Amino acid sequence: RQVWRLARRPEGDIDKGDLTFTEEEQRAPEAGEALVEVIYLSLDPTNRIWMSDREQYMPPVEVGDPMRGGICGRVVSSRAPGLPEGTLVAGLGEWASHVIVEEGKVSPMRGVEGLPLAAAFGTFGGVGMTAYFGLLDIGQPQAGETLVVSAAAGGVGQIVGQIGKIKGCRVIGIAGGAEKCRFITEDLGFDHAIDYKNEDVGAALDRLAPDGVDIDFENVGGPIMQAVLERMNNFGRIPLCGLISQYNERGETQGGAPAYWETMLMRRLTVRGFIVTDFAPRFSEAAAQLGQWLAEGRLTTRQDVRQGLDRADDYVKLLYSGGNFGKLLVEVSPP
Ligand code: NDP
Repeated sequence: RQVWRLARRPEGDIDKGDLTFTEEEQRAPEAGEALVEVIYLSLDPTNRIWMSDREQYMPPVEVGDPMRGGICGRVVSSRAPGLPEGTLVAGLGEWASHVIVEEGKVSPMRGVEGLPLAAAFGTFGGVGMTAYFGLLDIGQPQAGETLVVSAAAGGVGQIVGQIGKIKGCRVIGIAGGAEKCRFITEDLGFDHAIDYKNEDVGAALDRLAPDGVDIDFENVGGPIMQAVLERMNNFGRIPLCGLISQYNERGETQGGAPAYWETMLMRRLTVRGFIVTDFAPRFSEAAAQLGQWLAEGRLTTRQDVRQGLDRADDYVKLLYSGGNFGKLLVEVSPP
């Protein structure tokens, strides 16, 4: 098989040589295991966190180990009764052409019918679950409220904003560049977009949300988060989903973070960090609802599918520069 291994922990941006691409013998599955041929590898901002040894929500990838990643693929040989050959599965795997999976640790692909596999994986995989539970359970959106979402044209953000619209919110997306801003307003129906690369976020929020912000679905952190926080209404909610602007930082202080906390206190904001796997027992609920919205044409999602596992180390860097447009996937073998 072909596999990427973590060769050393990156310092700052991911660098050539932090990961190495190798050809290895593929062992056969043992009892309770299946061998999966990977079709899509999901590249996610959290990959950078897993490469580091900072505090995190699951063990970091050890230096020398295969790089961890979300995958979907087809079972090609099996010693697991619940995973017969030919089954399409999704779950945590490796940056590899083939992976051994344990029964119970991957799920059969959900909601595939009528959707291209990349769209099913790019919607019902981690990003759809994150958007669904983060916004609905933690954000508690009410009709008429103002919702701001950062990294709005990305995998998570595009779904958050559309669910916000379904729930009757005024939705403002923050994204980098005119094309992404056009996409979220014209194609996805967000009320407004703020192009943080070309305009001042605080001034734009003053214009677009004169009555303040009720929900900040936070994906970015740093100065963008600060600008939204300063405009939060009392008793607002902040699903604290991600802080991508800080993942490549080396130091202890991250983007002026301490200033946030006083705002949170004075305005009695509910801020809740969450990891999508907290909601694993309810994933089928989210998949059913998202599937219904897709079928009704109330939700659309965009994927950014790249070719070639051997270039995964370059592709992952797109996430931290905004070079991806939609949920970033690598096509490892034909669907
Ligand atoms: P995206 O598809 O949104 O890709 C990342 C995007 O972030 C880029 O395209 C870029 O968009 C934006 N970005 C990158 N660097 C910066 C920066 N310095 N300042 C502002 N924007 C930046 O990725 P995902 O949808 O997969 O993830 C979005 C967020 O959600 C991440 O923070 C991730 O860690 C988090 N997440 C959290 C989960 C959880 O369980 N808590 C689960 C899944 C994701 P642009 O061009 O607009 O700048």
